[in-house]
Amino acid sequence: MADAAKLMRVAKIITDTYKEGNDVVVVVSAQGDTTDDLIAKAKEVNQRASKREMDMLMAAGEQISISLLAMAIDSLGYPAISLLGWQAGFETNTKYGAARIKRVNPERIRAELDKNRIVIVAGFQGLNRYDDMTTLGRGGSDTSAVAIAAAMRADLCQIYTDVEGVYTADPRKIPGAKKLDEITYNEMLELATSGAQVLNNRSVEMAKKYNVELEVLSSITVATGTKVKEVTKMEKMLIKGVAKDDGVARVALIGVPDEPGIAFKVFSRVAKAHICVDNILQSVGRDGTKDIAFTVPAGDADAAVESLRDYCEAVGTKELRADQDVAKISIVGAGMETHENVAAGMFEALADAGINIQMISSSEIRVSVLVDKKDADRAVAAVHRHFFGE
Ligand code: ASP
Ligand code: MG
Repeated sequence: MADAAKLMRVAKIITDTYKEGNDVVVVVSAQGDTTDDLIAKAKEVNQRASKREMDMLMAAGEQISISLLAMAIDSLGYPAISLLGWQAGFETNTKYGAARIKRVNPERIRAELDKNRIVIVAGFQGLNRYDDMTTLGRGGSDTSAVAIAAAMRADLCQIYTDVEGVYTADPRKIPGAKKLDEITYNEMLELATSGAQVLNNRSVEMAKKYNVELEVLSSITVATGTKVKEVTKMEKMLIKGVAKDDGVARVALIGVPDEPGIAFKVFSRVAKAHICVDNILQSVGRDGTKDIAFTVPAGDADAAVESLRDYCEAVGTKELRADQDVAKISIVGAGMETHENVAAGMFEALADAGINIQMISSSEIRVSVLVDKKDADRAVAAVHRHFFGE
């Protein structure tokens, strides 16, 4: 959507779909870096602008793109109408900047479809019970699209992006990355929460909940994309992808008392600060003390340390610190449930590359390791090579 040429290409994809006899509802995000630019503008006048005003500002990006796209479609000779989030029936809670969709009332959209119009909806935004605009959090347009698809029981929700689908690793960084024909909701969810940039994780969560079939495909090249759905054909692939998340930090408490209740005391304080903890590692106690380390989103590292400072002083902890020079590397695949040597394969690849693992965590279909940030790209390449070859 970044410029006029790209906008026309998007308009063409839409009118082609419409010509095939489909009812088409399109959700768009802001053009190019518009949202970032708006945030930068706000910072110039107020470093601590209220979240309400930030939402009012950020929502403007999508107002520009929906109207331009409707005009582009009109120029191709097809009927289109643009709608802001509230006009399209998006009701959200009151959490400005990270609002949750409570309901989509698609009456207006239906009425416009009945007039044979192509409906263009502003993604990323809704209206709360105070009649204020809210935004859904960065990358929220994917979620808007899935929400409409669910509310209207659409046959398919296609997510057009700048890559051709879901890959076994970021194709911009790993030349050997392969496009997947299909992937399950659960695998996609694990990949999205492990740092894969392709889909917003809340959109996948919602697609799974309402059984909305997704297809991820390119708005630039014409090619089949990746289907995201409940079950996929049986495949020989052990894992579906390798992802990197370098937006994490590790918080370490060295030398806390080795006695009952410590984990509770530590993590209840972190939770009270509304910080989500991911990996947790606790050492075996020795000489009456032990160490606890855990990861948090990088932006929450200082707040996590603050939430523990008084407590750590009170119990005489030797050291409390946060380290941002880390990255999380994950492999994801339902094949892990039936193959026991998958994690070992990842560790072997990292060992051969001489990369030290700081922490390990896993779920049924995911193994994640924490490594030095400087090793992260090399780690992804090594692990990807191990499972997928050159
Ligand atoms: N324009 C919003 C953002 O940049 C929403 C989106 O891109 O999906 O976060
Ligand atoms: Mg955007």
